[in-house]
Amino acid sequence: MTVRRQAGRHVLQIPGPSPIPERVLRAIDMPVIDHRGPEFGELGRATLDGIKQIFKTENPVLIYPSSGTGAWEAAIVNVLSPGDKVLMVETGHFAAMWRAMALRWKIDVDFIPGDWRRGASPAAIEEKLREDSRHAIKAVMVVHNETSTGSISDIKAVRAAMDDARHPALLLVDTISSLGSADYRHDEWGVDVTVSGSQKGLMLPSGLGFNAVSQKALAAARKNDAPRSYWDWQDMLKSNATGYFPYTPATNLLYGLRAAIDMLLEEGLDNVFARHQRLAAATRAAVGAWGLELLCEAPSDYSPVLTAVLMPPGHDADRFRKILLENYDMSLGAGLSKLAGKAFRIGHLGECNELSLISALGGVEMALSDAGAPHQPGGVAAALRTLRRSEEP
Ligand SMILES: *Cc1c(COP(=O)(O)O)cnc(C)c1O
Repeated sequence: MTVRRQAGRHVLQIPGPSPIPERVLRAIDMPVIDHRGPEFGELGRATLDGIKQIFKTENPVLIYPSSGTGAWEAAIVNVLSPGDKVLMVETGHFAAMWRAMALRWKIDVDFIPGDWRRGASPAAIEEKLREDSRHAIKAVMVVHNETSTGSISDIKAVRAAMDDARHPALLLVDTISSLGSADYRHDEWGVDVTVSGSQKGLMLPSGLGFNAVSQKALAAARKNDAPRSYWDWQDMLKSNATGYFPYTPATNLLYGLRAAIDMLLEEGLDNVFARHQRLAAATRAAVGAWGLELLCEAPSDYSPVLTAVLMPPGHDADRFRKILLENYDMSLGAGLSKLAGKAFRIGHLGECNELSLISALGGVEMALSDAGAPHQPGGVAAALRTLRRSEEP
């Protein structure tokens, strides 16, 4: 079957992978160089140094040729051993997947249950840690931005809860969909391992996985004699010291990463975060005007990265997304696992601005009508009111 050509660009409004800016595409479009040659060292050092500013850390950041899932595994195998106990929070699908991975590594996971409609509760974490007077819990593992539900967790408050409980556990945080889109401070918030990936807020293709570490995490890894090889931090750090890698790095993605870091710093991280908040607020204004329900129930936990919307009862979200794709060449995120068919997700991260968001919300509004989904018109108009610079006449 041949695919019909559609004029214009596909509107990729899923919460990652996110659209790749022209400048990043151009940066990647380079001949391959010798990853052991002199030219590579400069690229290696520029990216290994530059990415620290995005994580806001003075400590090393490890860059793997992997998806985010690989970086999840790297965090687990370096600081934990089979039989270790950890505390995790059920914020949604991605928290459940990280837990499933930990279980495969024979980690003993205490999973604080959740309804997938809010971020992690620092109070619940504190209570669990206070009960653990013998300090059996080796790590607290939290997803910062839960991409399946559109809720974000307050990592600074999680750190404070751990400190208040005077518990020595390591803090491991998944920022795969929040790094470069939402305020994040690895050092200041006392995070021990921050996991991330390239294809969401960093606006790159998939294929780079990150571990930002703390001195405490490095010490835990040195003491950990559980088997590991590809993900071992020590081999990586030894080579990284001179700007090189122990095995072939994703060289062309590093060209892209260098450009993406430049772009984020030129815009200013605070401006980048404010833009994401503005676009998220406009999206919620549209959803409210349509009369649809947000999946996230706690306003303090609204994600700046994506907005998950519940489909009106009796209407299938996947059918709606199919109509949107066929009629307007636009993609939205699907509801994941227990939300399949019940919710859709609007990504507003990375290379997204006011006018690209308005175009996407226009697609949603038209497709809601086309799908016969009960809603009020006026979502786009509501978003315009929140985004325009002038007061209404
Ligand atoms: C996308 C995502 C992952 C999975 O990353 P992959 O690159 O697909 O392996 C994990 N956690 C969160 C929060 C994500 O958004």
